[in-house]
Amino acid sequence: MDKILLGCSSCLLGKEVRYDGGHKYDSWVVDTLGAFADYFDLCPEHQCGMPIPREALNLKGSKDDYRMLSNKTAHDFTDQMLNWCAPRIEELRKLPLCGYILKSKSPSCGMERVKVYPLHGGAAGKTGVGIFARELLAAFPLLPVEEEGACTIPYCAKTSLNESL
Ligand code: SF4
Repeated sequence: MDKILLGCSSCLLGKEVRYDGGHKYDSWVVDTLGAFADYFDLCPEHQCGMPIPREALNLKGSKDDYRMLSNKTAHDFTDQMLNWCAPRIEELRKLPLCGYILKSKSPSCGMERVKVYPLHGGAAGKTGVGIFARELLAAFPLLPVEEEGACTIPYCAKTSLNESL
């Protein structure tokens, strides 16, 4: 049986690319869905030029206008990430992708409900979309895209990624 090709956040495959040098290996993604899919993985933070380990990042601003800043030094990585995203999106267009699995809650990869912190303090709202995820979703409006946990929910699996299998 030929496997389908899915895009995936690198840390979900066990690659140690996270800000703390760790990974977020997801056995459902790797072992279960991996029986039917090959993965083309990207780590937007590392591949856009950030080291491992690195400062943790957060989305900061308002619900409709936020930037991606490092937590301690408040360096703005938004443009660096966007500059990396543009050519990557064009590369992705050349691949026979059937879907994409994104790491939840990430300021880069999170697909929905990512925390956005007010610039001058206060409680975060779960209203953001990761910077890479936002570019991906805009460029591929018809591509089935899910976060790692959502893929295992029967309804989501039935209606999106699994339709590609
Ligand atoms: S969530 Fe995305 S940017 Fe963060 S470590 Fe995983 S692949 Fe890299």
